[in-house]
Amino acid sequence: MWQHTIKKEISFAGVGLHSGKPVKMVVKPAAANTGIRFKRVDLGKDAIVRASMRRVSDTALATTLSKDDIFVGTTEHLLAALCGLEIDNVLVELNSDELPIMDGSAGPFVQLLKKNRKEQKVSRLMMKITKEMTFRSGDTEIHIKPFDGFKVTSKVQFDHPVIQSQSYTVNVDRDSFVKEIAAARTFGFLEQVEYLRANGKALGGSLENAVVIDRDGIVNTEGLRFADEFARHKILDLVGDFALLGCPLLGHVIACRGGHTQHVAFMRMLANNPDCWELVKRSEDGQESVLDKMRMATRAAGEMVLPFLLPPVPGFHPAKIAC
Ligand SMILES: [Zn+2]
Repeated sequence: MWQHTIKKEISFAGVGLHSGKPVKMVVKPAAANTGIRFKRVDLGKDAIVRASMRRVSDTALATTLSKDDIFVGTTEHLLAALCGLEIDNVLVELNSDELPIMDGSAGPFVQLLKKNRKEQKVSRLMMKITKEMTFRSGDTEIHIKPFDGFKVTSKVQFDHPVIQSQSYTVNVDRDSFVKEIAAARTFGFLEQVEYLRANGKALGGSLENAVVIDRDGIVNTEGLRFADEFARHKILDLVGDFALLGCPLLGHVIACRGGHTQHVAFMRMLANNPDCWELVKRSEDGQESVLDKMRMATRAAGEMVLPFLLPPVPGFHPAKIAC
C-alpha cells in the first residue's frame, strides 16, 4: 500500500461558494510523507496551512482551516477527491481565501486527478479501528466499528417532502468513490439563502453549483443526479473532513445527521481514544504490521495522527514542513 502524489500540476479556476470571489487553484505534486498542504500564494511564500484537524477554525456551512491569519475555506470537496482517489501528498496553491466550488461536487476535481496518480514507493500508514466507539451531540450520532476497508453509511433526515429520510452506504475505494459519490452536489434550502447572503455567506452560490430546494421541490431544472443525492453528498463531506485525520481510516463509520462540526468533534474524540485503534502499515502482499511505538507516541501527544509521525525516511526531514 504505497503513498501517492500526482504526476504534474493541475489547475482549476472558479468562485468561492461563500465568498463569491474568483479563485485560481493549482494542485502540485509533493514528496512522500508531506501530506496535503494549502498555500495562499496571494499572501507570500510562507503562507502554508496543513490539512489537519488541528488547523480547523470554522465548521459553519463548510470546513475552514487556518493558521494565524492565513485562512483557507471550503476545503472539504477537494479533500474528499484526494482521499477518495487515495492521493496522499500534494501542495494546493490558491490565490484567495476559499477553494473554487466548481459544480458543487467533487466531480471536476476527480476527473483530472484520477488520470494523474503517481506511486511513491513509501508505505501508507493507516488508522485501523479495533474497538467500537460512539459520538453523540444533539440530534447527531456518529458510530465507528472495525471493518477491513473504509466504509461509510450516512443517514440524513429533513422535515421536507423532497428529502425526508435517506440512507446510503458505500465501501469507499477509488472506483466506488468516482462512480457513487464524487458527482453528488452540495444542497441548500431557498428560504435560507436570503439569510445566508445577509450574513456574507453563499455569495457565490447558484443553481450551477448547488441543488436548491424550495417548499415544493427541487428548483434546478435538471433535477437530481441521484435519487439519494443528499445522503451521498453527506458522505462526500464526511470523506473530505476525515482526510484531516492525516492518514487513511480502516473502519465503518455510520453517521446520522452529521455535519462538519460533528465530524471534527468525532475525529478529536477518536484521536484521544487510542485504545480504539492502532496504526498499521500493509505491504503490497497484504502483510500487516502494527506500529505500537507510534501509537504510544500519539497517545502522549494526545491529539492526532499524521504521516509525519512516522519514523523519518531517508531524505525526509520533518523540519522542512513546518506549517
Ligand atoms: Zn459539501
